Amino acid sequence: MKLHLQTLFVAVGLGIKRNWHIFLSIIAGLLFGNFLHENPTVFEPLVRLLNIVGQAFIRVIQMVVIPLVCSAIVVGISSIGDSKQIGKFGKKMILYYGLITVFAVVIGAVLVLGFKPGVGVQEFISQTSALEIQNQVNSVIAEQKGQIGNIFLNMIPQNPLESLAKGEMIPIIFFALIFSLALSKVGEINRPIVSFFESVFAATMKITDWIMIFAAPGIFALTTVAVSSFGLSIFSTISKFFAVVFLGFCIQFFIVYPLILKLFSKVPFSTFYTAIIEALLVAFGTASSSATLPLTIACCEKRGISHKICSFVLPLGATLNMDGTALFQTVAVIFLTQAYGVTLEPIQIIQIMILAIIASSTCAGIPGAGLITIALVLNGLGLTPQQLVEGFAFLFAIDRVVDMIRTTVNVASDAVVAAVIADNENEIDYDLLNNTEQYKEII
Ligand code: ASP
Repeated sequence: MKLHLQTLFVAVGLGIKRNWHIFLSIIAGLLFGNFLHENPTVFEPLVRLLNIVGQAFIRVIQMVVIPLVCSAIVVGISSIGDSKQIGKFGKKMILYYGLITVFAVVIGAVLVLGFKPGVGVQEFISQTSALEIQNQVNSVIAEQKGQIGNIFLNMIPQNPLESLAKGEMIPIIFFALIFSLALSKVGEINRPIVSFFESVFAATMKITDWIMIFAAPGIFALTTVAVSSFGLSIFSTISKFFAVVFLGFCIQFFIVYPLILKLFSKVPFSTFYTAIIEALLVAFGTASSSATLPLTIACCEKRGISHKICSFVLPLGATLNMDGTALFQTVAVIFLTQAYGVTLEPIQIIQIMILAIIASSTCAGIPGAGLITIALVLNGLGLTPQQLVEGFAFLFAIDRVVDMIRTTVNVASDAVVAAVIADNENEIDYDLLNNTEQYKEII
């Protein structure tokens, strides 16, 4: 049966590998979405249908995320066993994730202060931010006020089962970490639970394999629907802002990550990007690091990084490490202050960068989350309430496209950090990683 299915898909894809299917489906989605954008009324039912297909794809991946995260952490930590080693991995993880995010906000700040994309665009922002969006964002801004104090408190679940049911990733991870540490301390009695989670992990990875069969149509549908709402001409209207954000993402992706891989490990970056390409494409299509997590784990594990590292570093990264988001937030906030002629003192720029690091790492790995938490960074910068709403609404209108790219950056950095730590700890099978010709499809 499996063979027949594969044969069918290879036949449909003219004998090419799955990552090419996904890549081509993104291109097709961009073009078709643009076409639908220009002919909105005729094709409305089709957009609705594609929306259902795309949402179904995201839902089936999201369906496995919580069992996957819980089982990965339990199995990973109990296989590390020794709490000293866990502490060592943890410290390295915080160090590398921190380093990458600091790079991101500094790059964002330097670019936006250097290129000044916001100067002279106030009029444009007011025109773009439609009134109905302004009404929506009012409540978001109000909700985010005063959130900073609660951020750390909200990480601790009062009731882990409630957090599980609500899908709150940070409290779930917090509990899973403590639970797994405790399990690793109680000796042989932990066997039934660990075996149970080993089975859960294996089964969720199998489901991920199956889901990948539908990656190409799913990503095509998601991309088409996203582009049909804004059209490709958006790139010319928001060109200055977009160019700066995009340049920042490119520097992070093509310079900072390769540099980090080079300085701290022996992992060749081009090989590594080939190893995680399916995850990057799915990140672009879904705009969700959480939904991409099963794929990120599958790519890293099947191509040489040990389970120990993947199961510990990647779930935490998908939830806490959002350097693409931090870069975007820094650029966006300074862009708005430029547009409204607010002069920033150097201390305020530093404040924006620090808040962007905090706001990004507290945002969930789901579409649009980085835009919601930007309200944390925007408050208190001397913008009037009206400017705040207008500016936020402008970012809201163009967010999906920026989100697709920043999510790809977020996912890449999680995998890069996992690779560096795995290298440092002798947890990479280089024969597997370097043999790109022999990479197995994720199925
Ligand atoms: N969508 C992003 C992610 O999942 C978060 C964000 O909105 O910036 O990584």
